[in-house]
Amino acid sequence: MKLLIIGCGGVATVAIHKCCQNPIFTEICIASRTVSKCDALAAKLAPTTSARLTTATVDADSLESLTALMKAFQPHTVLNVALPYQDLTIMDACLACGANYVDTANYEAEDTDDPAWRAVYEKRCKEKGFTAYFDYSWQWAYQEKFKAAGLTALLGTGFDPGVTSVFTAYALKHYFDEIHNIDILDCNGGDHGYPFATNFNPEINLREVSANGSYWENGHWVETKPMAIKREYDFAGVGKKDMYLLHHEEIESLAKNIPHVKRIRFFMTFGQSYLMHMNCLQNVGMLGTTPVEFEGHEIVPIKFLKALLPDPASLGSRTVGKTNIGCIFTGIKDGKERSIYIYNICDHQECYRETGTQAVSYTTGVPAMIGTALVASGKWSGAGVFNVEEFDPDPYMEMLNAYGLPWIVDEHPVLVD
Ligand code: NDP
Repeated sequence: MKLLIIGCGGVATVAIHKCCQNPIFTEICIASRTVSKCDALAAKLAPTTSARLTTATVDADSLESLTALMKAFQPHTVLNVALPYQDLTIMDACLACGANYVDTANYEAEDTDDPAWRAVYEKRCKEKGFTAYFDYSWQWAYQEKFKAAGLTALLGTGFDPGVTSVFTAYALKHYFDEIHNIDILDCNGGDHGYPFATNFNPEINLREVSANGSYWENGHWVETKPMAIKREYDFAGVGKKDMYLLHHEEIESLAKNIPHVKRIRFFMTFGQSYLMHMNCLQNVGMLGTTPVEFEGHEIVPIKFLKALLPDPASLGSRTVGKTNIGCIFTGIKDGKERSIYIYNICDHQECYRETGTQAVSYTTGVPAMIGTALVASGKWSGAGVFNVEEFDPDPYMEMLNAYGLPWIVDEHPVLVD
């Protein structure tokens, strides 16, 4: 099966390693903006895999560039592990060239000052009640196009969204008649030794965590100021950490796809040093996305900051400790209340030894491969646009165990108040 992978950053590096371990992928083309990164990875992995590896340069913001590549390579499926800014262009190219589409993050506009985008965004903020720059409406709008083309688009197969959504489908299938509350807890107990760095693309990461928080309750969104809700939790394998409520994209799809759910919250752990730096950068305007004039040049503050910060891909060798990401569910089974916690613990150094990246890239890249393999094998099939929780979770859960992200079910978890 021919697979085109777009992007060659931290997440892509892991996804490509894992695709090379899965014999379903017989030909893999690695395409990105900087082809030298693709070449280096292909050279490293070629001796380890039976898949035929090729590389290409592509500008994923350009439909022309994408369709030229896809027409030449003729992929069965395209895995988009570039940036959320490119989701719609890559979906359009898949439709034009008859390829299935898979990604790990929903569409986000790069230019949030664009008046046409802003008009749609402001209408959505009013109608839906959350102000995040990213949401599923743009990609769900492709439903009829993918249906008509007889193609599958699988959205959000990273860890969160992705594994957390599959955990939800698995809990519903095997442990509950109705799920009422979902708390998604994302803990990174890793230490890279820098005063401040982000674990994945700094621009995407900082835009996400500096935004308002929100959660879903009784059929509507409740929005909070950034980092306004804080809890402490004792994470298996990591220990006690402060965690903060964030808006997160899987809340939107789970609210749509999980019947009877009453509340969905997402918490992520942050250390004091990270928060202090982020607040300071926010206060001085360094997280701005609007270009400013500086000595005759236009610069976008957050892009300039990205150039100064450590490349997330370079953190792998220095990061020690573990991540623990999972979901606590409460609900009803056979008329009785119950709660369970499904989680994965992942060790940064083990990830580094296997793939040369830290656990945040690893925990995203492994499920990116799994979702792609399920679409490629036809185990997950259907024409249209789907979120991962809409499919049978069992084969995905088996592959998590087989490909490096084993999970645990705790039937007596400590709940978050
Ligand atoms: P990186 O910045 O490390 O990598 C992005 C890659 O995309 C780079 O290789 C970059 O090229 C390439 N790229 C960017 N723009 C273009 C373009 N216009 N044309 C072609 N290639 C382009 O990001 P990450 O690997 O950290 O993240 C990848 C994706 O994973 C993001 O969408 C992120 O939101 C998502 N993610 C999802 C998570 C989840 O759990 N669901 C968690 C973490 C991340 P170059 O090398 O030239 O810069």
